[in-house]
Amino acid sequence: MTKVDNSRQKGILYIVVPCYNEEEALETSARRLLDKLHELKERALISGESRIVFVDDGSRDTTWDLIKGLYEAHEEIKGLRFAHNRGHQNAILAGMMYARKYCDFAITIDADLQQDINAMENFISEYAGGSEIVYGVRNSRNTDGFFKKSSATLFYKIMTLMGCNIYENSADYRLMGTKALEALAEYDEVNLFLRGIIPDIGLRSSVVHFEVFPRMQGKSKYPLSKMITLAADGITSFSIKPIRMVFMMGIMALLVGLGMIIHIVYEHYFGYTVSGWSSILMSIWVLGGAVLLSLGIIGEYVGRNYLETKRRPRYYFWEILSRDERQNDHETGKKV
Ligand code: UDP
Ligand code: MG
Repeated sequence: MTKVDNSRQKGILYIVVPCYNEEEALETSARRLLDKLHELKERALISGESRIVFVDDGSRDTTWDLIKGLYEAHEEIKGLRFAHNRGHQNAILAGMMYARKYCDFAITIDADLQQDINAMENFISEYAGGSEIVYGVRNSRNTDGFFKKSSATLFYKIMTLMGCNIYENSADYRLMGTKALEALAEYDEVNLFLRGIIPDIGLRSSVVHFEVFPRMQGKSKYPLSKMITLAADGITSFSIKPIRMVFMMGIMALLVGLGMIIHIVYEHYFGYTVSGWSSILMSIWVLGGAVLLSLGIIGEYVGRNYLETKRRPRYYFWEILSRDERQNDHETGKKV
């Protein structure tokens, strides 16, 4: 049992929920989140000013209308809206950056509530015990299909190999206190990979395990292309090892080339020069492949560098539904 710090009792909780085309899931999820919020309030675990913030990540369906309806019906609900789809990571970040001005701590959770909302009590008691960041780590991946499971395992293996400090199976279900949120606000990179950045903050943290359930309504909003972008962002924003690997590959190719020169001179000297068609063809393909791969890796970094140097805003709120709007609420997550 963690020791309880009185100043961290009954804080204001903001639950941040990114939503992209979630019309099927939203009503049920909002109902369950509201029930949870009321329960936590009644048990005096959180303050009465706690809120749920839905971040509409540029949905093309009726998600925003539903959020508007929920906002009008319940004073605990707030809504933020992007003009177009900026991606899950930006939606969470924007929600947390907005929340940090009002809350003592924020919890992020997916709109389909695949993560067990009953783990929130544990998050809150860890926060009360002094943790500024509480990571949610999933118990098993039994609800995922074979492809998602194996690609996720491979992803975490690669990330660790590349030197990124990351918890395996830590979803974007976590609690962050305002101190951690203020620290996060200082990281103003465009290529966002929160799972890597947050451990880098280095404040006192702990872990809560939770169950994952299958998605009940709607389909996954994370197609393979978005998963690949997330993985590439994760690797390139935390490691320059791939570039180093390209360099090492170059050196190895050079050594092989030197060996080949000796071999060629030897063959020439003994007069076997006509044969060797297959070995030449093979080296063309192997080297060609290595060169293209290397260029591709370097290109990924150059491309991201380009995006970073433009310093474009990461998000901009098109609309805000709030009963207590403050100055600078429309800020873009860009420092001036
Ligand atoms: N999401 C988002 N923007 C996107 C894609 C997804 O805000 O471009 C949200 C989505 O609404 C959900 C969360 O991110 O709340 C996780 O998405 P999903 O449940 O579809 O992913 P999966 O569980 O299949 O990995
Ligand atoms: Mg999901």
